[in-house]
Amino acid sequence: MRTGLSAAEALRAILEQASPLGAETIGARDALGRVLAEAVVARFDLPPADNSAMDGYAVRRRDLLSASAESPVRLHVVDEVPAGGQSDTTLEARQAARIFTGAPIPAGADAVVRQEDTEADHDWVSIRIAPAPHEHIRDAAEDVHRGETVLQPGQVLGPAALGVLASLGRSVVSVHQKPRVAILSGGDELVEPDGAIEGGSIVSSNSYSLAAQCRLAGADPTYLGIARDNPDDIERHFRAGLRADVLVSSAGVSVGDRDYVRNVLEKLGCTLLFWGVNIKPGYPFAFGRFSHDSGPLVFGLPGNPVSAMVTFEQFVRPALRRMVGHPTLYRPLVQARLVETLRKRPGRIHFVRVELERDGEQIVANSTGNQSSGVLRSMSLAQGLLIFPAEASELVEGEMASVQVLDEDFLAADSPGF
Ligand code: AMP
Ligand code: MG
Repeated sequence: MRTGLSAAEALRAILEQASPLGAETIGARDALGRVLAEAVVARFDLPPADNSAMDGYAVRRRDLLSASAESPVRLHVVDEVPAGGQSDTTLEARQAARIFTGAPIPAGADAVVRQEDTEADHDWVSIRIAPAPHEHIRDAAEDVHRGETVLQPGQVLGPAALGVLASLGRSVVSVHQKPRVAILSGGDELVEPDGAIEGGSIVSSNSYSLAAQCRLAGADPTYLGIARDNPDDIERHFRAGLRADVLVSSAGVSVGDRDYVRNVLEKLGCTLLFWGVNIKPGYPFAFGRFSHDSGPLVFGLPGNPVSAMVTFEQFVRPALRRMVGHPTLYRPLVQARLVETLRKRPGRIHFVRVELERDGEQIVANSTGNQSSGVLRSMSLAQGLLIFPAEASELVEGEMASVQVLDEDFLAADSPGF
């Protein structure tokens, strides 16, 4: 087994093992954020026919060339077309049809005059303007042509794409399956948040943060509970997760000094591909796969709450995004100005928890405080992870550094911009 990999080597080894899951058909109402596994081709034109963009009158332009407020032109109203209606009238000279927004344009008409520019009088209407060609008419197929590919495989379904899908007569859609992620915690000291919290016990929080991170990455987490620090219990918990696509364990089961974890995994048919990545927090991170294709990818995360979250961010999230077929695997990266000098020993990348703030054209990064791997509060305040490169030993105040953005809300404006 390899040890002491760089972050880039570890990520490469992981992504080699991750590929998009197969497709499933789901209701479009449940498809927000899912990734299309099919090309969506229009079966009909949108709009299906020329229709009115206004409430008013469908007219023949040539009847109205002289119309003005001073000398309105009177037309005979021979039909009325509601939205959803149909007209079998063909307009003849000096005829008009009352029409409503969305209603199909009757034959013979080549413009619509808004109600506001008219005066109705029983079966007659006085028109006060000369309309431009096709004024207030939405042309058939101006949005979509029949046979056109409107949505591409790999596209993430947002609100507008779901509307487009529905407008093309589709209430179900084929998307990539969500990876099922089985999460387990490990440690004799751990208790669940609702359990008896006594001296020496530590509340298990990792299953909560990691499940939430899974959801944000588009995966479907299930929780297998706490495995105690003995081989039988670890085996029992791992077995419960073997049908998942991904197994994420933290602490006790992350290997290192505890050889029985490795033994248990090997007994179950899993090979650990590496252990230990040159990052801080999160060095004791392990990754494995099963020799047969049906077993889950196995991520052994460190137990410290921040290390668990940071290694998830760096290694599990990109793998999950690839599995859901997402076109982008990584967080946005921004350049931010440091407000203080940072120092460390060369050798490992440090991921520094920072708050981000706009300062004119620049973004400013400010440490969220105590960077110990157990201090989850400083993670909860973090809007980004600043990358302090492996070989660097100092980042000087005022210097620019790359930051992975975890929370884009720092870009939110304090006014609507209008
Ligand atoms: P370990 O990797 O078992 O040495 O754990 C490292 C540290 O993380 C210890 O202080 C553990 O108590 C803590 N820890 C392990 N698992 C969890 C968890 N699920 N939630 C919160 N803290 C944990
Ligand atoms: Mg432990």
